[in-house]
Amino acid sequence: MRRTTGMALLSPGGTWEPFTVVRRELRPDDIAVRVAWCGVCHTDLHAAHALAEGAPPLVPGHEFVGEVTETGSAVTAFRVGDPVAVGGVVDSCGVCPACRDGEEPFCTEYPTEAYGGTDRIDGTPTLGGYAREYVVRESFAYPLPAGLDPAAAAPLMCAGISTFEPLRRWDVGPGQLVGVVGLGGLGHLAVKFAVALGARVAVFTTSPGKEAAARELGAHEVVVSADAEAMAAQAGRFDFILDTASAKHDVTPYLHALRVDGTLCMLGIPDRYEPEPLAMAFGRKRLTASAGGGRPRTREMLDFAARHGIVADVEKVPAREVGAALARLERNDVRWRFVLDLRDLD
Ligand code: ZN
Ligand code: ZN
Repeated sequence: MRRTTGMALLSPGGTWEPFTVVRRELRPDDIAVRVAWCGVCHTDLHAAHALAEGAPPLVPGHEFVGEVTETGSAVTAFRVGDPVAVGGVVDSCGVCPACRDGEEPFCTEYPTEAYGGTDRIDGTPTLGGYAREYVVRESFAYPLPAGLDPAAAAPLMCAGISTFEPLRRWDVGPGQLVGVVGLGGLGHLAVKFAVALGARVAVFTTSPGKEAAARELGAHEVVVSADAEAMAAQAGRFDFILDTASAKHDVTPYLHALRVDGTLCMLGIPDRYEPEPLAMAFGRKRLTASAGGGRPRTREMLDFAARHGIVADVEKVPAREVGAALARLERNDVRWRFVLDLRDLD
């Protein structure tokens, strides 16, 4: 077994403490990654809130970058010293229809998640990238393109792929008007990707104060969603709307904003949403949802990000201060993603 230092929540409602994380010895197709930067995702916050009494310590983190420090005997894609990125899925069955289609997040045996999952071979629980070292199958690690700032690139591996996948799946491009609901970790990357894909982009936000920030990210229009008159004026305009808001909210105004055959895609996974049936029927609207992206799309996303110079806007935080960062994330007090600096953790 290999030992490294991570940051863990030891008990529900407790404090975040440095914690000895045990990693497996390298299998033939494994690489060891010395993690430098790990993004702080809303999922990590949910996992912290969901930690049960008596559960093993929580080590989150599913968007991280670092350097390859060791390779298993059968590894061919990486060499020691290579910059590497890892996201939310670290293994899958490889043979089901979803896996054969490169849709590993939807593996019928359920994919192995970077943390909170169970290793397919030894049955141990997976611990995430809030740690100085991670061990992963080479086929679920990605070369980090040169030219991207590593800290700012880390969030591409969850927030980035989560937004890029539906934009590509629904063929967002030139000549289209695209809406992005919510400006946060997901939303700010959705704006950057949609603009780079050639679409005209409007941000829907509840906060008028975010207008300047939205325009700095490249948005062409800003709609204050709390303004009923402004929302009514959007009727029938949009080809595609990506909804990144995670709090419960009314989706029907966004269905009204779509043109005929337009698509509203939910990314935020609120507890429930209740589209008005008539608002879907009138204009043959589509309501869909999305979660993550497979390996081919992840490679495409990294290549696209490198060509267009797209990374997240990040605030770097020493790993030991993760508790404070999560508390601020809960208040939406971040522009737009916290990234933990793991480099001085050991
Ligand atoms: Zn995430
Ligand atoms: Zn599968």
